[in-house]
Amino acid sequence: MKNSTQILHSNLNINSNSIDNSPLHTAIQPSITYHYDSAEHLIEVFQGKRKGFTYARQSSPTILALEEKVNQLEQGRGTLVFSTGMAAISDTFIALLKQGDHIVTSHHLFGNTLSFFKILERLGFDVSYIDCTDAQTVARAIKSTTRFFFTETISNPLTLIPDLTAISELLKQKKIFSIIDNTITTPFIFKPTDMGFSFSMNSLSKYLGGNGNSLAGSITDLGNYDGANDDHILPQYKKLDIDNCLMLQLKKKALRDQGATLSPYNAFQVSQGMDTASLRLKQHAKNTALITEYLSQHPKVAIVNHPLLSSHPQHQRAQKLFGSDNQDSQQYLGGILSFILKSDLDSHSPIQAIKLLNHFRIILRSTHLGDARTMSIPIAPTIFNEHGVDGRKKIGIDEGLIRLSIGIEEPDDLLEDLEQALEKI
Ligand SMILES: *Cc1c(COP(=O)(O)O)cnc(C)c1O
Repeated sequence: MKNSTQILHSNLNINSNSIDNSPLHTAIQPSITYHYDSAEHLIEVFQGKRKGFTYARQSSPTILALEEKVNQLEQGRGTLVFSTGMAAISDTFIALLKQGDHIVTSHHLFGNTLSFFKILERLGFDVSYIDCTDAQTVARAIKSTTRFFFTETISNPLTLIPDLTAISELLKQKKIFSIIDNTITTPFIFKPTDMGFSFSMNSLSKYLGGNGNSLAGSITDLGNYDGANDDHILPQYKKLDIDNCLMLQLKKKALRDQGATLSPYNAFQVSQGMDTASLRLKQHAKNTALITEYLSQHPKVAIVNHPLLSSHPQHQRAQKLFGSDNQDSQQYLGGILSFILKSDLDSHSPIQAIKLLNHFRIILRSTHLGDARTMSIPIAPTIFNEHGVDGRKKIGIDEGLIRLSIGIEEPDDLLEDLEQALEKI
């Protein structure tokens, strides 16, 4: 079964034992707690000796159905969902870190993830921010204390692509725990488990949910990392279930103790969004290809960043890593692109970018990405404002950089909107 088929049937399998036959959707279950027919039953569920729910901060039926859905897509050993993508990232690190640990990560990260790593630095953790497009740089950054590696599959807004193949080999050799942020690619396009990475993380608020109506995040244990022999995993979890001790610790230390639980209402909405994600990705791909080509040939545009362009530094790598899902016409290499107008590049300012955005009639002025609607944002004075001019320069964010998150509208409408706005500046 293809992923897109499988996902439409995932709730059906979970619900097949319920008394009302097999509902297509797991119902929204708002109950916080449960009643048991005996105290022994209550104790057994608490101790993990019997299946069941205790308190909804850890799990509940609607949450479980969504976790199962993400897990099937990622081909994982287990998945946990959180209230947001940021909660999934930060709570996972807090649940697994130990004093003295060193983290290697990319300096091209989602702004808030980068900002979270700065918190870890303030708490005394050693974090190296490097260029992950080159595996040699990753190799050089690894120390005896390196315990974690974190990167995104396609960076935003510059669309840079780490050398995931070589990095995965390196990390396996050194037994370093890895977390891959799969948000921009989604598990429909890329499966981090195939390369042996430890965890895959998704912001479900983006392409997978797709409708801009619910925040959510997920962490999937891909079953590739040996938690049993890692002293980061507490003895009580190894004793309880040696094969799943990693996930068990995450469930207790990330979800139960930090409490960024997803609401069942949002879980339901995200779950419905996921049913049509593969279809949306095809339209995202088609529109992104047309807009990338249009902008790259426009006389008022100086630079376009997207892996589809043969001028992109990781054009071939992108096709190799993410191009396999080419079911019909168009490869999806991420629905994010960024560009700079010639006049802004010359003046190192976002003046013309701001004018352009104000002329858009269909393309929204919004900070979100991976939505069904096309969205635009001047990056420097918004998402990377806290970095300051020097900080932005260091990571290659030009003052005039505009990010587009390409939606699923009719491509002609989007191209016309771009054309009329570009004409006016
Ligand atoms: C949005 C995003 C996040 C954070 O997800 P939220 O659900 O908004 O908290 C993390 N990583 C990437 C790549 C993202 O785009």
